[in-house]
Formats: sequence, structure tokens, C-alpha cells
Amino acid sequence: MHTPHDEEMMGLALAEASAALQAGVFPVGAVLATPDRVLGRSHKHMGSNHLAHAEMNLFHSVFNGDYPFQRGDGITLYTTLEPCVMCFGTFLHLPLQRLVFSMEDAYGGCAGTRMHPAPPRHQHSAPQIVGGLHRNESRALFARFLQATDEPFWVNGGAPEFQAAVRGPV
Ligand SMILES: [Zn+2]
Repeated sequence: MHTPHDEEMMGLALAEASAALQAGVFPVGAVLATPDRVLGRSHKHMGSNHLAHAEMNLFHSVFNGDYPFQRGDGITLYTTLEPCVMCFGTFLHLPLQRLVFSMEDAYGGCAGTRMHPAPPRHQHSAPQIVGGLHRNESRALFARFLQATDEPFWVNGGAPEFQAAVRGPV
């Protein structure tokens, strides 16, 4: 279930992903927003830093120091690719209520991961998760990246489930 506001915010995240693509970087973009305010936006920067995912860059900029946000603020993370284990774990750790992502990551996506049993800190904070918003737009950016990249990981067939989803039928 998504809203017109979600569509608009995912549009901003896709613009971030396009900026990454222009720079030759794997095109993931992310936005943090409340229902009436954009808190920050970012994209993946360099291919060789495995911690500089779009979401992590954004978390560092918005949740730096003594941030004023609480779980009740209704903050949503918008990202153009289903988060990995690092980004999804950080999403759960921060006071965020919703995750809206665009394309699923059949290789490393962790949005379906649940803690069993959840430790006390996480027992009352199950986030809402929505996938597939503007999937085709996000997928088209990944297709352009895979066509153009000469990074050995991708050329040699890395993340095969993800590559198959990008190249496969819509
Ligand atoms: Zn990540």
C-alpha cells in the first residue's frame, strides 16, 4: 500500500540512483522523509567501498550525533533496491517506521529477514515494509549499469539471481 507522497519520494530516490549511474556507480538511491518533510537523500558513491551504500550514507548524514528523531515521527526510508543485511539491520536499529523499496534484490535483499526471537529492544517495533514501487524504473537503471560496466564482479556473473531479475522478463 503506497501513497502519492510515496511516489514522489521514490521519484527523488530514483533521481539519486540516476546520479550514481551518471558517475558509473551501481545505481542505488535513497531518501529519508516524514509525511511532510524530506530529511535527506543520497546515492551509492564508489564501487570499492563496501560500506558506502546509499542507505548508509544517508543514515550517517541524518542520524549524526544527537538527532532529534523518535520512532513516532513517522520516518520512512525510500530506497531503489531492497536493502542488504547491513542496511536493513541499521534500518531496524534506527527510529524508522516504514521501508519502501523499488526493485527486489533476489541475491542479497534482506527486507524479509526477521529476528527469531527478537530481543526486547525490537519486540514492539515491527516496521511496515512495501516493495515494488516504481520497480520498472529502478530495473531500467540497473539494466543500463550492467550493460555499461566493466567491473569484474558484474562481468564475471556476480550476484546471478539479481542479474537474472534485471535482464529477465518484466
Ligand atoms: Zn546496503
